[in-house]
Amino acid sequence: MNNKTPFSHKNYEPEKGVLFIVGTPIGNLNDISFRAIKILTEVTLIACEDTRQTKKIMSKYEITNKLISFNKVNSFKKTPKLIDNLLSGKSIALVSDAGMPSICDPGEELIRDARSNGINVTCIPGPCAALTAIVSSGFNSSRFTFEGFLPRKNSMRESILLELCKNEKTTILYEAPHRLKSLLKELKKYFGSGREIQVSRELTKKFEEQIGGNIEEVINYFENKDVIGEITVVIKGLNKRKEKKEINKNAIKNDLNDLINAGLSLSAASKYLAKKNNIKKSFIYNLY
Ligand code: SAM
Repeated sequence: MNNKTPFSHKNYEPEKGVLFIVGTPIGNLNDISFRAIKILTEVTLIACEDTRQTKKIMSKYEITNKLISFNKVNSFKKTPKLIDNLLSGKSIALVSDAGMPSICDPGEELIRDARSNGINVTCIPGPCAALTAIVSSGFNSSRFTFEGFLPRKNSMRESILLELCKNEKTTILYEAPHRLKSLLKELKKYFGSGREIQVSRELTKKFEEQIGGNIEEVINYFENKDVIGEITVVIKGLNKRKEKKEINKNAIKNDLNDLINAGLSLSAASKYLAKKNNIKKSFIYNLY
């Protein structure tokens, strides 16, 4: 990579004593910003989740810099040392294996501790699977709920699913490929088979796939397939008006049956219910 990349401003970066949170690709190694490459090249050290993953980016962009591993297992031990380094004026880049650090990845505690120690924190944004999936879905993308991975414990899982199925906002979930089929079955149970969803597989990669439809259709699609690759699930929010209309229809049908069973003619029962619900008599005839 030549040095004539368009860094028209922020040429002062990386400043000393700053923690840079750097977004990296979620699959396609071209999805990285010039600024991210500059920071990764010039900071004192890079704290990364798995050195083997980060080395792939470094080798593509010919970055030779010091890497230290910083993951779920060792973050508790390593955080105080990184904070000391930052306080002594070193600049550190934090990256995860893919996407934005701290989105279902390590980083939250380090960022919090850096802030509470008065250290400057700067985020260099990059791809995120959740946002890439929701934007690709065509569902409402301005108001959404991101749940990450659902908890494994049944009771916690159930209470979250009960809440999510009533949510009018779009929901985004992360899931491991070997659990996708059982998640889809669970979604069918709570959201109903007709709810629209989109499964994004291998986003930004060569074999990217977007499988959209109602839950039943998506279950059928995966039925005889081995699910491999990375998966993000996007669920359309509940359409309360449509739901209410369905409930009303069912209630009117029940009333109609009751009246006919009680001896009223179809015409008399329809006339009565049309007046009561302020709807056309023909609508009630059609329900019958
Ligand atoms: N920090 C990452 C981000 O910003 O999206 C997420 C890390 S989380 C440990 C990994 C999960 O993100 C995967 O199990 C999958 O659910 C989702 N994911 C990551 N890359 C993906 C991709 N290329 N396609 C679909 N989902 C992906």
